[in-house]
Amino acid sequence: MSKKLTTRAEDYSKWYNELVVKADLAENSGVRGCMVIKPYGYAIWEKMQAELDRMFKETGHENAYFPLFIPKSYFSKEASHVDGFAKECAVVTHYRLKNDENGKVVVDETAKLEEELIVRPTSETIIWDTYRKWIESYRDLPILVNQWANVVRWEMRTRLFLRTAEFLWQEGHTAHATKAEAIAESKQMQGVYADFAENFMAMPVIKGAKSESERFAGALDTYTIEALMQDGKALQAGTSHFLGQNFAKAFDVKFTSKEGKLEYVWATSWGVSTRLMGALVMTHSDDKGLVLPPNLAPIQVVIVPIHRNDEQLDAITEKVNELAKSLRKKGISVKYDNRTTYKPGWKFAEYELKGVPLRIAMGPRDLENGTLEIARRDILEKQTISIDETVVYVEKILEEIQDNLYNRALEYRNSHITEVNSFDEFKEVLETKGGFISAHWDGTIETEDKIKEITKATIRCIPNDAKEEDGKCVFSGMKSNRRVLFAKAY
Ligand code: AMP
Repeated sequence: MSKKLTTRAEDYSKWYNELVVKADLAENSGVRGCMVIKPYGYAIWEKMQAELDRMFKETGHENAYFPLFIPKSYFSKEASHVDGFAKECAVVTHYRLKNDENGKVVVDETAKLEEELIVRPTSETIIWDTYRKWIESYRDLPILVNQWANVVRWEMRTRLFLRTAEFLWQEGHTAHATKAEAIAESKQMQGVYADFAENFMAMPVIKGAKSESERFAGALDTYTIEALMQDGKALQAGTSHFLGQNFAKAFDVKFTSKEGKLEYVWATSWGVSTRLMGALVMTHSDDKGLVLPPNLAPIQVVIVPIHRNDEQLDAITEKVNELAKSLRKKGISVKYDNRTTYKPGWKFAEYELKGVPLRIAMGPRDLENGTLEIARRDILEKQTISIDETVVYVEKILEEIQDNLYNRALEYRNSHITEVNSFDEFKEVLETKGGFISAHWDGTIETEDKIKEITKATIRCIPNDAKEEDGKCVFSGMKSNRRVLFAKAY
């Protein structure tokens, strides 16, 4: 398969789809909208999981697991929740197949479920049905539980990682005695997500609240982190919901307070998914392939020997083994690619495509001089350094690459937030430049819908740090007291 990619300028969307496949992250499967995550892609997801899991545990959460199937009746208990998800549900109706008279495998109509089961699109309902049994008094609270799982949402238009019918995610579900505590929890988790995005993915995000029409079905408030992709489109990268007492009321989850009163429990839920993989690719990668931040790269340093005969290879290998050992001691992940079935040039292109942050090449002359050649993936620059300095140098440069990727993405993001004060300006900026548009909005769903209908841009969020400012809605001219961020989004 040719390694050459369509360029971003030619066709951003095609570039993305090709890159995900050619870099061995994932591919489409025989099941509509469902992907196969390949080992290299899964290794990145595992690194994401490990860091997030550590952060969840540091903030007091524990992991648990709930069933994949949810009885249909549970679903209908919270009205707005079922409304929001009804159109995307996969439903299990039978539990047996049989061979018909022609030997064809068919559904056995006699094996019909009494109550249909929904393949979970999210687990609030089954979890709150369970929490009723776990909670009696204020002493049982808070419950701080997270689950790593797969979910199914029957999406019509899918795209590898960004929007799939089945996706992997984590969903936190917490139960609290007070409203204030639940709100604080949902904001805390928005903060954890932002911290992860910025420090591990090197992806700057804007923290904000969703407008009513973009809120999670069943939530009183949805807090989001919004990122900007290189084509000027926004991506919702993670969400944390304050669910009020909606699910406690639907599932009759009450507790006896300290004062001896019976009260409904307060809830939150929060999730990030394999969509983050798509975000990572779209934030940093270039026309040569993936660019991975060192903090999430499965291989941080690859070493390629350059040799003409076995004797040279043996000598290089001996030196490389020593170096690799010292690098690994520092916690750096190293791969030595000494395959003789591929030429060095092929390997260089391969690791460039796969976004390995640092590539070291060592040849016979290097061995004589005590040097090696080291190439940075982010800026595509090479340098010759002494072997003895390598460990210190690699440690320093990996940090530098992580910072550089973040700063580069931040600069792009910041230069793509445009304040506009009229609807003409709004449309022009959206068409010519893209990115986030900071504009006054009258706070009504009608205006939001109209703007979406005309421009395809939606309100991404009301930023947490939005200043109070008197203004007029760009569309209706009605009063507004702060700007919100609009963008076209994935
Ligand atoms: P939600 O439960 O709707 O708040 O979604 C939780 C997280 O999953 C959000 O960060 C979404 O961006 C992400 N997500 C929602 N739908 C999909 C999908 N079809 N594929 C991948 N990720 C998704």
